[in-house]
Amino acid sequence: PVRTRFAPSPTGFIHLGNIRSALYPWAFARHHGGSLILRIEDTDTERSTQEAVQVILDSMAWMGLDYDEGPFYQMRRMDRYREVLARLRDAGLAYPCYMRTDELDALRERQMAAGLKPRYDGTWRPEPGKTLPAVPAGVQPVIRFRTPASGSVGWDDQVKGRIDFSNDELDDLVIARPDGTPTYNFCVVVDDIDMGITHVIRGDDHVNNTPRQIHIFRALGHEPPVYAHLPTVLNEQGEKLSKRNGAKSVLQYRDEGYLPDAMVNYLARLGWSHGDAEIFSREQFIEWFDLEHLGRSAAQFDGEKLKWVNAHYLRALDPDELARLVRPFLHRLGLQEQGVDLPAAVTLLRERAHTLAEVAELCGMFYAPPEPAADVLAQHLTASAKEALEDLRQRLAVLQGWEASAIGAEIKQVVAAHQLKMPQLAMPLRLLVTGRLHTPSVDAVLALFTRDVVVQRLSRGV
Ligand code: GLU
Repeated sequence: PVRTRFAPSPTGFIHLGNIRSALYPWAFARHHGGSLILRIEDTDTERSTQEAVQVILDSMAWMGLDYDEGPFYQMRRMDRYREVLARLRDAGLAYPCYMRTDELDALRERQMAAGLKPRYDGTWRPEPGKTLPAVPAGVQPVIRFRTPASGSVGWDDQVKGRIDFSNDELDDLVIARPDGTPTYNFCVVVDDIDMGITHVIRGDDHVNNTPRQIHIFRALGHEPPVYAHLPTVLNEQGEKLSKRNGAKSVLQYRDEGYLPDAMVNYLARLGWSHGDAEIFSREQFIEWFDLEHLGRSAAQFDGEKLKWVNAHYLRALDPDELARLVRPFLHRLGLQEQGVDLPAAVTLLRERAHTLAEVAELCGMFYAPPEPAADVLAQHLTASAKEALEDLRQRLAVLQGWEASAIGAEIKQVVAAHQLKMPQLAMPLRLLVTGRLHTPSVDAVLALFTRDVVVQRLSRGV
């Protein structure tokens, strides 16, 4: 059975590129009826925080990316890593290295001065017939992995195709620090083995770790999993997405009123494709997802496209659900919903919005009298418009019923009676009642207000 994992480091921030590295393994596991394992890689104790773990959990929960096992925490598995480390040493596949940091630095400098790539020179690597230097007093050794001296290592990457590294490019990796704590590449392999991972789907910033990890797998008597390394996500300026250059966190999109289904759809499409399909449900995504159609080159984030996808999902919500989702955004703006048929209002206003926050903002027109800019108002509120609006105000005050169709009929009659074109009345009408020049159809919008409010707002302008 397929077993994939998402293995984030809890260092405070997850952007769309990071969560996409959860989305694909999730979809792969779901497609195959397999399992997704969540593993928190928290061995960098200086940078890892509990809040950051919570951000990861919240982001996944919000996006609806459920996992089957975990979260596992690497810091809680230290005993296990030490045990496996001891096994490697016993087997002669890892060895202590007493080279001090200053000696390593000096070595590196000599190599670079000679135009060579800096690498550990194997001073402490045991070989048959070789005499090792005397163990210096007071130096705690690191543990190095014994990389095969010749040959090569490679894999058939599901995204990038065949990748091979020559072993002489890989020096003997440090797998435990002087204090005995295991290093990153070692923990990952022990975990992937213990967790029975069959497919590793992760960012291609790990491509250089993979040959080292494969060696460790084999040293531990296991074949490596299948690898799929995802190309980076670039921002709109073509730079790698990162907090430093302004990438937003996943939770920020939540707070701006994006919908989880839209995010899944957009991110699914950012680096994977199913023909020309742009809009597809979660279920379709799971059904269609495969590694073959992952993109081979970097994907570029497009905020306008995300908005477009979000607007699509916004329009597909049923009115009560939409109202339920908009409510917290209204409250954040300090707005209560009394006196407004919220489901009807948001269903109409979403035509002009891309996010829940924008819908809530448009709802503001129901609560406070609009204050259109004076110059805009002056431009639209011509003398003839004023007369027509006063006429309309009087008609609306006594209109039988208060529905869009009846209101619309009055508007048409007033336009005809005053020999205006529709926009000459509709624009100032919109401005006075809603404060905006662009709204969905004006009769339908007016019907969302109470008659009193409309009549009162019209009287302010004439
Ligand atoms: N913890 C690594 C990261 O956040 C992922 C490692 C992996 O997927 O193997 O980049």
